[in-house]
Amino acid sequence: MKSTIFERSVPAASTVQHSLAGTKHAPFWLDDLVDPGRYPALQGDLDADVAVVGGGYCGLWTALKAKQANPDARVVLLEAKTVGWAASGRNGGFMEASLTHGEDNGASRWPKEIDRLNELGFENLDALERQIGALGLDCEFERPGSISVAVEPYQVDQLRQLETDADNVFLDREALAAQVISPTYLAGIWNKRSTALVHPAKLAVGLAKAATDAGVEIFENTKVDTLNSSRSTPTAPVDVVTGGGTVRARRVALATNVFPSLLKRTKLHTVPVYDYALMTEPLTDEQMASIGWANRQGLSDMANQFHYYRLSADNRVLFGGYDAIYHYGRKVDPSYEDRTATYRLLAAHFFTTFPQLEGLKFSHRWAGAIDTSTRFCAFFGQARQGRVAYAAGFTGLGVASTHFAADVMVDFMAGQRTERTQLQMVRQSAIPFPPEPVASIGIQATRMSLNQADHNQGRRNVILKTLDALGLGFDS
Ligand SMILES: Cc1cc2nc3c(=O)[nH]c(=O)nc-3n(C[C@H](O)[C@H](O)[C@H](O)COP(=O)(O)OP(=O)(O)OC[C@H]3O[C@@H](n4cnc5c(N)ncnc54)[C@H](O)[C@@H]3O)c2cc1C
Repeated sequence: MKSTIFERSVPAASTVQHSLAGTKHAPFWLDDLVDPGRYPALQGDLDADVAVVGGGYCGLWTALKAKQANPDARVVLLEAKTVGWAASGRNGGFMEASLTHGEDNGASRWPKEIDRLNELGFENLDALERQIGALGLDCEFERPGSISVAVEPYQVDQLRQLETDADNVFLDREALAAQVISPTYLAGIWNKRSTALVHPAKLAVGLAKAATDAGVEIFENTKVDTLNSSRSTPTAPVDVVTGGGTVRARRVALATNVFPSLLKRTKLHTVPVYDYALMTEPLTDEQMASIGWANRQGLSDMANQFHYYRLSADNRVLFGGYDAIYHYGRKVDPSYEDRTATYRLLAAHFFTTFPQLEGLKFSHRWAGAIDTSTRFCAFFGQARQGRVAYAAGFTGLGVASTHFAADVMVDFMAGQRTERTQLQMVRQSAIPFPPEPVASIGIQATRMSLNQADHNQGRRNVILKTLDALGLGFDS
């Protein structure tokens, strides 16, 4: 097998060790909040028109939009811990236009629809930009686009194929060096429209404030244990049962992401895959000058096991990705978040990418669970005779697509047939993962195959080709 650039050009062990000494184990974004905003726990029973379960972006947008659509409705949001503590408060902050986890994935699944799905994705990102402005959400929104960089020769050929898209600008080695300086870069594609960047946790707490300002009632530390509904009276409210009380809701929206589904039918539809990230200290002007990056694009490299990286408002570099770890038993467990080997690997890859930053330290390290679905993008549906709507499975690209999912859930709850609800992508159900131990064996075999492909000019082996043909897979 051929080695990758990250194996051929390894920084000194002392550089890596120094960079990780004293790193705080906490998501930088949540640690950076001055006022996280806190809400009471539910105590007692209440009646509501809409109950939203989950206080990440998906639940927050759904609650806000449901209230905006019907200001007289009583809308409550129930969150097991605190608003934005999970993926929404600890992600990379890449707000991507794609609703389908990339064009190739969408085109292979919904070839007749993909052009419209692409348009809807851009409309969604444009709408997000407008709403963040209109709501006055201070979430450090910027829209510099993103560059996919080739760090191996075969990836340059892959990039050339993307050149046909009118929004894509091909950057050869020299043109790319004029944007961002790394000895590993061979070429890049800059898409100027597709990506915005945000401070993820500020977006979550800002949304919660906007929702409560609009009249939504948020209850934190309120875990929903079950949903009880009567089959014989389909118009009766659903009992949303928590330890502190029951909400009798006419409509329920489930935005519980990677956490155990409250519906039996979607229990096997997602698996938690752990993704890891490092954040540096703020760069000095001199350090910034050594890497260029004046246009502040989001960056990622092109392998199956890829890195994503970006600047924060105060010129730190967030560097994440590469390892995507699944643990037997599909549990979400905080003990999986501190993985020394992965942080060392990420730090080493960072200094391979930017050797000129030797001596820089990482201030924060953290991880989070990604809700991977077999189709690599969200699935949607309704249950309990239309009284419960759900969306999950964003697979590492949910910062923008949760906003689209919220629109779908609001359409469902209003009983409206819209362009969104009629999309094949929305109507088609996702294929579940198998139960254990098959899930674990299959996922580990797929991971090994993806790693092999990265060491073999991107060539996919028989396992990956079979999964491709079946429309199945594993991604982050
Ligand atoms: C490290 C990392 C990096 C990422 N980077 C990016 C990126 O750069 N760009 C991108 O687009 N996406 C990224 N993602 C994915 C993105 O963060 C998620 O897709 C998105 O935040 C999902 O939002 P959500 O509201 O569906 O889920 P979450 O933010 O996970 O919120 C779900 C909430 O539901 C609550 N909940 C669950 N069950 C219950 C219950 N029974 N009762 C009450 N509450 C419940 C949970 O406590 C949680 O707060 C990343 C994810 C991770 C982990």
